[in-house]
Amino acid sequence: MPLGDDDDCSLQTNMPIPGGPISPIDFIFCYNVNEFVFVDARTGEVVATLMPRIVSRADWTDRNATFSPFTRDVTRIVMHHTVTNPTAFDYELGEMTIAQIVRNMEIDHIRRMGWTALGYHFVIGYDGTIFEGRPMDVSGNHALLGRTYNRNPFTIGVALIGDFGPGNEPPSQAQLDSLFSLTSYILDRISTIDTIECHWDTYFGPWYSSVQDDLREKLR
Ligand SMILES: [Zn+2]
Repeated sequence: MPLGDDDDCSLQTNMPIPGGPISPIDFIFCYNVNEFVFVDARTGEVVATLMPRIVSRADWTDRNATFSPFTRDVTRIVMHHTVTNPTAFDYELGEMTIAQIVRNMEIDHIRRMGWTALGYHFVIGYDGTIFEGRPMDVSGNHALLGRTYNRNPFTIGVALIGDFGPGNEPPSQAQLDSLFSLTSYILDRISTIDTIECHWDTYFGPWYSSVQDDLREKLR
């Protein structure tokens, strides 16, 4: 898949190239909204993915939070959707931003749920931007009830911003692309994960069954 014109590309000859050794002259290190990638300079084809682009927690909030460690090996990723509007208005910036949704959601989780911070480890906006809610080495607050009863001590929580229940529009392609690259990123770093599951069985619309197999394929 060649990158589009809007993607930001720059030659970075000092970057390590996954799967090397190959001449860095022939490759361009690029990023688009979803991930850092290496692109063949002649054909424009993506040859390797380094990691998804993740907005770190420090980049969207000044709030310091105290987190609890995991008490067991992390063995699962639990997928959620936020059942909220995909955009929000930031009055300070005077524009619609996903970061404002993430900040609002954290305030909601603190005030209404009594948690120390945003409950999810990661949230993904409609444009594919991935936000870090809390570090991957601490427990989340996202899988206490329902089908994923009491799984906070050993699961990573990933939430798609929006309402993707039955009868609604599916997530955007950018959002799904980021879900895939983020899943790879998590699995690369936590080798004990053997299951990707949904918060509720009937939570997502039919689109989920079509991506489920692709997600599970990454576990092999
Ligand atoms: Zn959920």
